[in-house]
Amino acid sequence: SKDAGGDRYTLFNEGMSTQVMRHIEIEHDVRDALLQEQFKFALQAQIDITTGKLVGFEALIRWLHPKSGYIMPDEFIPIMENSESMITLGYWGIKRAFSILAHLESLGMSGYRIAVNLSASQFLDPNLINFMREQLAQSDQGADQIELELTERTVVADIEQTKGIMHQLKALGFSFSIDDFGTGYSSLAYLSQLPVDIIKIDRSFIAGMENSSADKQIVKSTVAMVRKLGMKVVAEGVETEAQLSTLSTMRCDIAQGYYISKPVLEEELYPALPSKLND
Ligand code: C2E
Ligand code: CA
Ligand code: CA
Ligand code: CA
Repeated sequence: SKDAGGDRYTLFNEGMSTQVMRHIEIEHDVRDALLQEQFKFALQAQIDITTGKLVGFEALIRWLHPKSGYIMPDEFIPIMENSESMITLGYWGIKRAFSILAHLESLGMSGYRIAVNLSASQFLDPNLINFMREQLAQSDQGADQIELELTERTVVADIEQTKGIMHQLKALGFSFSIDDFGTGYSSLAYLSQLPVDIIKIDRSFIAGMENSSADKQIVKSTVAMVRKLGMKVVAEGVETEAQLSTLSTMRCDIAQGYYISKPVLEEELYPALPSKLND
């Protein structure tokens, strides 16, 4: 066609501008999205591997854009990071987590935990601790039901600052997990200096267990070491029965992944809960 025969320079620029436009569009629309409540949480179950019982959920954000449909966090979180909107969205997420706990309690489900992802800029926000204290004061739910997920990258930036913030939030009763463990540059020796409760082994290692004896060995020794250090261990991205049973023989505490459940939007989860819990 005429277009395909057009000069390369133009095509290259069109490709670039589509990407740039999408970035600009997201950056721009985020402000309205926050005001118009276009964000939702999908909740993904976590189970105790020994008993098979539900222990709680990880809250995973979704953006229902009025024109583009669902936009996934891997696309918009990196664009929002380091902007004021990220802080605002983070506050929304914490508030939502407290209301999810309240809602679960109203359905007769108390004592479950919600894990919320905190980006680096949220974690370093100087108002975070006051905000968390306020939310706690306003809620009937306990801080022990909220787990804050941090990545290795967030916690290795400045050890003294990290320790300080974590200890203040721990003093309020919140717990901490380290997300995507194994993909960053931290070690369990480093993490054991921090008030960390849970290590989440990255799903790439879980996926690798069947074909790579190295991955299997890494998972096995990580599980053993984490438990010896007095922390709990979560396997992420459990997709098969074989993975779950391997993790069980390794004495991994908790599993999360498509084999157990996909993330489910709040509005779809609640009606499904009583039957889920009974089976
Ligand atoms: P993450 O925290 O590592 O979350 C796990 C991701 O793996 C989720 O992707 C989840 O849907 C997906 N997943 C769960 N089980 C399986 C499985 O068995 N197989 C495979 N292949 N994938 C599985 P999602 O929801 O697209 O989230 C992507 C990332 O976006 C998250 O990775 C997290 O880093 C970030 N994110 C999500 N929600 C929030 C949020 O509220 N705040 C912040 N700051 N970041 C968030
Ligand atoms: Ca996470
Ligand atoms: Ca309270
Ligand atoms: Ca993860």
